[in-house]
Amino acid sequence: MEILKNCMLCPRKCGVNRYEKVGACGATNKIRLGYYHLHEWEEPVLSGKNGSGTIFFSHCNMKCIYCQNKKISLDGYGKLISNKKLGEIMIKLQEMGAHNINLVTPTHYVPNIASVLHKLKGKALNIPVVYNTSSYENIGTLMMMNKLVDIYLADLRYYDDSLAINYSSAPDYFEVATMAIDEMYRQVGSPEFDKDGLMTKGLIVRVLILPGHLEDAKKIIKYLYKTYGDDIFISIMNQYTPVNTCIYQNLNRKLTEDEYNEVIKYALELGVTNAFIQEEGTQEESFIPDFNTNVI
Ligand code: SF4
Repeated sequence: MEILKNCMLCPRKCGVNRYEKVGACGATNKIRLGYYHLHEWEEPVLSGKNGSGTIFFSHCNMKCIYCQNKKISLDGYGKLISNKKLGEIMIKLQEMGAHNINLVTPTHYVPNIASVLHKLKGKALNIPVVYNTSSYENIGTLMMMNKLVDIYLADLRYYDDSLAINYSSAPDYFEVATMAIDEMYRQVGSPEFDKDGLMTKGLIVRVLILPGHLEDAKKIIKYLYKTYGDDIFISIMNQYTPVNTCIYQNLNRKLTEDEYNEVIKYALELGVTNAFIQEEGTQEESFIPDFNTNVI
């Protein structure tokens, strides 16, 4: 694939030839896959009864110091597979009863994934495709997924760029991510659901509240609600789980119930109605996928 010979797929703009070396994300020209399974713990409109057919790709263009999936995202755990094999995995997940195909951090493999979906979507593959992203994305790369993605499941992690730099080495994150989310909304528009209440089209934006940064989370929610109203869903997440000890003390603890409730109250007072909130107990490490179990 020519585009991988001078890789500018994401805002890092490394310009490397991925057939010969790797850039900031660590990915070569071939897909490396960490894990796939039926995921029961995504938002209920995605997981439904059977689960979301989640495919975790190895490597990542974000560098979050608190990443829960560090083993595959930063350490690059996983197995090299062909594009053809990726297609077979999508069909297998569909046969297992998955309500959708959920591509987790696909950014650095978009050309590979798009070529697979061009062959399968609307033919052998007839369940919605979910693009699950940090939103640290280039518009041109997202445009390659136009009409191939039904649902965008996007993070909006930071309002304050100093947090984005310190925690994820991602300068200009807010500007980049909000422009990317605009493009996602342009592609999929208002939410739609099937007769069982499962989402078939639309945009869900996740706000992961970081301990000690409630004001940042509130600014993000305010931005999203003022920009899109109830034409998108906001998923307000309390599941931050410290997995490594880091230099920022606030990141070495979980979010308290009071902190979470404060942000929920703020969203309700703003008038947000299309939101997902999490119950207590979602912060357990047992919800972090076990990447030791390689089922490829
Ligand atoms: S996808 Fe990877 S190699 Fe390409 S620009 Fe982004 S970080 Fe660099």
